[in-house]
Amino acid sequence: MAQPLSFFDQVIRNFDKAAALIDEPAGLLDQIKHINCLIHFTFPIKRDDGLIEVVHAWRSEHSQHCLPTKGGLRYAVSVNEDEVSALAALMTYKCAIVNVPFGGAKGGVQIDARRYSVDELERITRRFTFELFRKNFIGPALDVPAPDFATGPREMAWIADTYATLAPHDIDALACVTAKPVAQGGIDGRVEATGRGVFFALREVCGIAEDMNALGLEPGLEGKRVVVQGLGNVGYHAAKFITEEGGAVLVGAVEFEGAIAKPDGIDVEALMAHRRETGSILGFPGATDLPRREAGLEIECDILIPAALENAITMENAPRLRTRIVAEAANGPTSSEASDHLFQRGVMVLPDAYTNAGGVTVSYFEWLKNLSHVRFGRMEKRFEEHSNRQILEAVEQATGRRFEPEEVRAIVHGADEIDLVNSGLEQTMIEAFHEIRELKHQLGPEVDLRTASMVGAIRKVATAYKDRGIFP
Ligand code: NAD
Repeated sequence: MAQPLSFFDQVIRNFDKAAALIDEPAGLLDQIKHINCLIHFTFPIKRDDGLIEVVHAWRSEHSQHCLPTKGGLRYAVSVNEDEVSALAALMTYKCAIVNVPFGGAKGGVQIDARRYSVDELERITRRFTFELFRKNFIGPALDVPAPDFATGPREMAWIADTYATLAPHDIDALACVTAKPVAQGGIDGRVEATGRGVFFALREVCGIAEDMNALGLEPGLEGKRVVVQGLGNVGYHAAKFITEEGGAVLVGAVEFEGAIAKPDGIDVEALMAHRRETGSILGFPGATDLPRREAGLEIECDILIPAALENAITMENAPRLRTRIVAEAANGPTSSEASDHLFQRGVMVLPDAYTNAGGVTVSYFEWLKNLSHVRFGRMEKRFEEHSNRQILEAVEQATGRRFEPEEVRAIVHGADEIDLVNSGLEQTMIEAFHEIRELKHQLGPEVDLRTASMVGAIRKVATAYKDRGIFP
């Protein structure tokens, strides 16, 4: 039996499919496809009991056509050279798809974070940062990490602090990493940005009547039945916004410990509270526990959101999925063959490099904020409010109608950082989807959204190389 393709091989397969539709020299396409540089290193850490353990870590910079390179840092036992290579390549295409001017990168430490104390995780994170620094693999102009599986603002704050200690004269030191806590130079809205981006994407996609009719669905996100796999940062926020703001119904949830189904809808906050209290999503009042975790992906729904890790959907289970849309919130959740199979069956697969790009989009905003050393909205908020108030008063005088206090508040309100971040994110996700959709229409009905998005991304990277030329 043929060996299944590795994660990076699958990305290459997707690349080759798209590259076949692009009229660029083979050498240039080759340069775009390959990893520019990759480091693997080991370092010792002291466990709390005094024992020494050797940790394996990687950082991959896939494309330096734009600098800095950008990409998350993952703590998982699955981390290896192939995984960080695949994830770094996806970052290049992701940034190009949402027009964020970064190259792609990814880092990983091969540990199960649940087996380490907070002190141990801090030592691992700081030593990892030190190793990156020594090797010129971190810096605001070079390579900027962000969170991924099992890392978050806490780890990003340790990275920023370690980098600032090592580079005391770098006035832009805070821009060496994104998704920091807001008090440490982070930006409002970054924690939830990826999940919010998934929501903006789905709201836009479901709003197009022609496409929904082709899938046999009513237009609009409201009332759509959704299943989410992985209720971590991305999955939880996606589920929250899609149900609370989009009116969709969460009919199933899948986590490490199992899967549950509840056709009349799961209250996301209640489920999270239940998991905090009991350590499990199982036993949630009113829901049915499924016999196998994997069965959760096969619950009948309109939208399936895999938001855990890669290879959740393969040829093994793809034929049993009962959904009309797969929104890839995780990176690489659908194997390349399974993605083709779903496309043949008429299922819409919203590709990862687009669907989860909200995180890097808001990371870009945070990087800009750090470089400008000022919070978004700080300079203009009061000025805007003053101008809006004057316009309102002029309208009141001209019409003789007095606005209600609620209306005044809504109209006068000057933008805070969170307003600007969410508005920039919304615009980015909407614009990028229409770019992909338009391209898909140009390429023809046999081309899926993933290939169309890759064609667009590769063309943008190729243009960067052609405009700048090749050194020396
Ligand atoms: P996370 O660690 O916050 O959450 C992952 C969740 O998935 C955890 O709750 C974990 O228990 C669960 N999980 C793990 N294995 C599972 C399984 N087999 N079945 C069901 N649930 C399982 O990680 P995250 O940051 O939410 O990242 C999730 C995915 O989204 C990854 O593929 C990551 O690369 C991608 N992503 C994350 C971001 C971000 O901003 N954090 C941005 C873009 C893409």
